Amino acid sequence: MSDPVDLPGYADVEAAAARIAPHAQRTPVLRSRSIDALAGAELHFKCENLQRMGAFKFRGAFNALSKFDDTQRRAGVVTFSSGNHAQAIALSARLLGIPATIVMPHDAPAAKVAATRGYGGNVVIYDRYKEDREQIGRDLAEKHGLTLIPPYDHADVIAGQGTVALELFEEVGKLDALFTPLGGGGLLSGTALSTRALAPECRLYGVEPEAGNDGQCSFRSGSIVHIDTPKTIADGAQTQHLGNITFPIIRRDVDDILTATDAQLVECMRFFAERMKLIVEPTGCLGFAAARDMKAELQGKRVGVVISGGNVDIARFSSLLST
Ligand SMILES: *Cc1c(COP(=O)(O)O)cnc(C)c1O
Repeated sequence: MSDPVDLPGYADVEAAAARIAPHAQRTPVLRSRSIDALAGAELHFKCENLQRMGAFKFRGAFNALSKFDDTQRRAGVVTFSSGNHAQAIALSARLLGIPATIVMPHDAPAAKVAATRGYGGNVVIYDRYKEDREQIGRDLAEKHGLTLIPPYDHADVIAGQGTVALELFEEVGKLDALFTPLGGGGLLSGTALSTRALAPECRLYGVEPEAGNDGQCSFRSGSIVHIDTPKTIADGAQTQHLGNITFPIIRRDVDDILTATDAQLVECMRFFAERMKLIVEPTGCLGFAAARDMKAELQGKRVGVVISGGNVDIARFSSLLST
């Protein structure tokens, strides 16, 4: 048994919402008549692909860095990430005048590495199949007095990510079901805090890549399952395990964890592009892929879907769609 941890609550999400409000986009909630007609349900898409730096991760990163004291601000932040959290930390650090060091995998999409450097982040590359990114991050933190802000297992990150659903419920009212992508669970656990506070009856689903269903195994078995880095086009959800903070919240507040295949994600990318003129990265499609699969159960319901991000190289986007 690991030590009990202090879990963030909905009050932390509300505090995060106030902190990020002057800097984050209040992203639109979009509808599509043709998608509603096909689904036989009312679908409300919360478009975090239109967030600053292209994903919800700006919310958690900015919230966490906003809470640094003067000493932490001067020394700087370090993180490890497959991409979007890296950009989120780099941009937030620049806005707050904090130096940022980012540990990124050798095979991270070129656009994500370039964007991180573009925001002023100092990028350190590692081999995702051979080295332990968390250890590299911890070593850098210790050596240079940096504060480590991990991509999901951190109370301030979770509280920031919870503002996505807070805004969604403020805008559309109660929903019957809500689908959100799942990697390490920062987005899902934050979403759970807002959902249980604002729409307690809403069914809440996390959706992860079928090739990496550690979250589903953990949820169903009751303890955190670790897996090798899964091979999937959903690069934002290639996490190996849920966190010590995200897991207990997910276990307590989420109704189920579902999965989607890479082929389903490509279909959804095409669907978003054709029907809604939206560019969505593969990971950003997870929620919609599962909602489409549950068509029969969702007839006549009000359904929320979080589109978590839109950062995909255009060349990769078109090659995925032409296969
Ligand atoms: C990070 C990320 C996820 C997964 O978020 P977690 O908090 O790790 O569960 C989903 N979609 C996108 C676009 C991401 O960048």
